[in-house]
Amino acid sequence: MKIVYIDMDDTLCDYKSAFEQARRLRPDIEYPQSQPSFFLNLSPLPNAIDAMQCFLADERYDPYILTAPSVKNPLCYTEKRLWVEKHLGFAYAERLIISPVKDLLVGDYLIDDYLEGKGQESFQGELIHFAGEHFKEWNAVMRYFGLTKAFK
Ligand SMILES: [Mg+2]
Repeated sequence: MKIVYIDMDDTLCDYKSAFEQARRLRPDIEYPQSQPSFFLNLSPLPNAIDAMQCFLADERYDPYILTAPSVKNPLCYTEKRLWVEKHLGFAYAERLIISPVKDLLVGDYLIDDYLEGKGQESFQGELIHFAGEHFKEWNAVMRYFGLTKAFK
């Protein structure tokens, strides 16, 4: 099985929109992401949940969520865990890795919207640049990995 790591913020969940909205509502707060429930209330990005269920169901892949914490915001550790169970179920709560450095993890693929900053640049496997030129959204990622949506 190929080990696939999937980032959370702006890969599975829409961090950017929530950040901008929080900024508009409370311009006085310097770090809107430090407010309680910020991470818990993020919306999933289109097709992200479907793609994650396809990875889990596919015997070729061993998927894990790999997210770097907002270290100055201790709430985010718990809220990320709660978000995963809420949107992806307990199976993915058991596959949640919160690490400030991503290159310590050994695997075949890392799907991430950032190419550097948290060890992405040193990741030993293939880096899939989510929201980049070749993988603008989840359907493109699913095509690349040969995933097809489960029948509902
Ligand atoms: Mg990200």
